[in-house]
Amino acid sequence: MIPAELTEEFVQEIVPLPELQRTTINGVAEKVRIHIELLFNRLMPNRNDYLEILPEIVAQLLSGDCAGAQRDMANIAYTRREVSKRPAIKPSLKIQVFRRDCWTCRYCGQQTILYPVMPLLGVIFPDHFPYHSNWKAGQTHPAVAVCTAVVDHVVPGSHGGAWLEASNLVTACWPCNATKGDLALSELGWQLRPVDESSWDGLSGSYRQLWEIAGKPTDEAHPHWLRALSCMPELRE
Ligand SMILES: [Zn+2]
Repeated sequence: MIPAELTEEFVQEIVPLPELQRTTINGVAEKVRIHIELLFNRLMPNRNDYLEILPEIVAQLLSGDCAGAQRDMANIAYTRREVSKRPAIKPSLKIQVFRRDCWTCRYCGQQTILYPVMPLLGVIFPDHFPYHSNWKAGQTHPAVAVCTAVVDHVVPGSHGGAWLEASNLVTACWPCNATKGDLALSELGWQLRPVDESSWDGLSGSYRQLWEIAGKPTDEAHPHWLRALSCMPELRE
């Protein structure tokens, strides 16, 4: 369990949408709570008693018991690791993966939405669908994180997985992607779901028209997404 007094503050650091915890529509809150709990446990493995241990270590230091402080700190030591620099996945490859997976998260089965649709909805409905390019807390509608399609590496690059091979890439919803991080499926006890054939297109078929309704903005990489999508047969004019 996440200590209640830590949750809000901690999650704000790592999950940019604390309002998600308070959302109760369609069971979203429960799903996000599970994701956050997994994330929390991953970042703070095996223990949630830091608020007892750290004051103890500080007290030992102040009383001159440096050996005791060193010993206790060694018990909670966190080893730095190299974080691989990941090459960017081009929109065209992302679209290829999303289409193959029918725009559905291969981890939880939730349907997802083409990412740049979100900022367009933010432009069209500025009062009701706030959108911040960094998904800033309090300035971004919770649907953005819950529904956005992202490409996830099944075998993380840090575990030797190919960064840019479609065979190692799957569609994920943002919460699953954030939870998985660079862990292997076996570490999480997750399995890939088979693709269920579906006509769901992640709203990609409506994207160009939405972009026009929003006034043809050129930020948020819209031109790149439009080009990537225009290569798709069903979108050729
Ligand atoms: Zn998911």
